[in-house]
Amino acid sequence: MEGEVVSAAIDETHDPARGSWVPTANGHPEFPVQNLPLGVFSPRGGQPRGGVAIGDRILDLPAALAAGLFSGEAERAAKAAAGATLNPLMALGRNPRVALRRRLSTLLAADGAERAKVEKLAPTLLHETASCAVHLPAAVGSYTDFFAGIHHAYNAGVRAGRQPPLTPNYKYVPVAYHSRASSVVPSGTPVRRPNGQRKLPDQDAPDFGPCRKLDFELELGIWIGPGNALGSSIPIARAAEHVVGMCMLNDWSARDVQRWEMQPLGPFLAKNFSTTVSPWLVTVEALAPFRRPQRARPADDPKPLDYLWDDTDQREGAFDVRIEALIETEAMRRKGLPPHRLASSNLDHLYWTVAQLVTHHTCGGCNLQPGDLFGSGTISAPDQSGWGSFAELSDDGNATIELPSGESRTFLEDGDEIVLRARAVRDGFVSIGFGDCRGRIA
Ligand code: CA
Repeated sequence: MEGEVVSAAIDETHDPARGSWVPTANGHPEFPVQNLPLGVFSPRGGQPRGGVAIGDRILDLPAALAAGLFSGEAERAAKAAAGATLNPLMALGRNPRVALRRRLSTLLAADGAERAKVEKLAPTLLHETASCAVHLPAAVGSYTDFFAGIHHAYNAGVRAGRQPPLTPNYKYVPVAYHSRASSVVPSGTPVRRPNGQRKLPDQDAPDFGPCRKLDFELELGIWIGPGNALGSSIPIARAAEHVVGMCMLNDWSARDVQRWEMQPLGPFLAKNFSTTVSPWLVTVEALAPFRRPQRARPADDPKPLDYLWDDTDQREGAFDVRIEALIETEAMRRKGLPPHRLASSNLDHLYWTVAQLVTHHTCGGCNLQPGDLFGSGTISAPDQSGWGSFAELSDDGNATIELPSGESRTFLEDGDEIVLRARAVRDGFVSIGFGDCRGRIA
């Protein structure tokens, strides 16, 4: 860990005038040269290794290291990012990561001094993404799912018949539960409809069988970088140093199982059968231009307790990133229809900043570790166009959602695919995306 307090830095790697000699990077909706997300991939017939998404290609980090393209701190980071997981890179902290980003940006820039040399190496450095398998970016040691989307929390309270809908702790505590790391899967992995105990309101006793209310949740995934020692806590002013980047996260949910099992200890099997993440680690450095002040709380909301309050975090701790959830059914695929948008929202609807989640998680001495994953909670918008789950969209099955194929849905059916996407847009900067977070119900 370096000594200085991290503040969002915008540098030459964000320069909107910078293009790449990789032709598909220029104008790419997700992976222009300003993004440079890290991930783990296998070229056809090859072993998993670290790479960088650039346009419709992946830059092979072991190949770039073998070609001697890195030195110093950038080389240290490239070596840590070259293996079958990014955990060693996540452990390093900000300085080597920034050095790697700046070096990659130079190597891939259209006007880079070494362009001729690097371009000549392209056949060994670059793989077509379409011909590669993309894996989880990290071995996930621990996965915690928060509940920081206040509109989702409010809608859940309304459905539960609570008045007021938010529980009394909601505006004081960043509410969460410890979820399951072993079933976190990368985009594209089929999701099996879980079996479980279900009890509908009109049943006297539960029965056992396939989930009848299978749902998605539109969430931000947060990748933890350097950890903290057991028994220590991370002060809010240092929390940003412990976050390495973001992904999109779908917290698949079995609502009928959940309703029956979760009292009084919270979700268990309803949430642990699969969690899908987009495979690219979009670094906090790439997201620097898209930071914004945390939304001001309504005047009658309590101010967060002191340990959760930091002026810098309030000034730049939120992110202006558009997010959406789309559905594609088997019939839509047969008819050649494009995925249908179910919800459109923004990361800035989170009631708590990412730094507040980190600090709260550790305030009692819990140790975070590199490669730990947080889910933000479902990030619904205030109105129906941005409700990020079927539980909200269909009011727990009481309303139907009509699809362009002529079908309707209350919850997910077999063959349905959910795609989550995120796109950061700001005037004067090149937009970047997170890459698909996709899963089909098998
Ligand atoms: Ca969730």
